[in-house]
Amino acid sequence: MQASGSNDVVVLDASSLSAGWQPEPGSRVVTPSRVWREMEELGAPPFEVGIAEPSPGSLDSVRAASAGTGDDIRLSNADFDLLALASDMGALLVTEDFSVQNLAETLSIPWTSVGRPISEVRKWRYRCKGCLKVFDERYDDCPVCGSELRSYGGKRR
Ligand SMILES: [Zn+2]
Repeated sequence: MQASGSNDVVVLDASSLSAGWQPEPGSRVVTPSRVWREMEELGAPPFEVGIAEPSPGSLDSVRAASAGTGDDIRLSNADFDLLALASDMGALLVTEDFSVQNLAETLSIPWTSVGRPISEVRKWRYRCKGCLKVFDERYDDCPVCGSELRSYGGKRR
């Protein structure tokens, strides 16, 4: 029943909850407390949502990356928390927010939205910038040569 891989954990944005997103059986749904407060305003989710906070180090990385892409002015503290938490947990980020999606791409965080089925996003792969080897799983560094990995395939369709 339970699929393998890090995408079993889902970090959910309030935008996708209000767009009618539903978890797959066996997946664990978490969100930062700032986003949970937005969800409560929408009405309690019809499934279990755990609350978890991102690490300060991960938040720093996300903020630094957002300044680089120019997304920083369009993102809220809740958005930063979402991205940093997804990064910390190696989770699939579910959001309808274009700026959050854009920064997720930059940070190689796998994401999906209500308009984009999870099965498609699971095709994401990671290519090493150094030796160009391709991996189905995300690593911090290339297990072969230690270079940085980049995701690709997520923009298909
Ligand atoms: Zn490599």
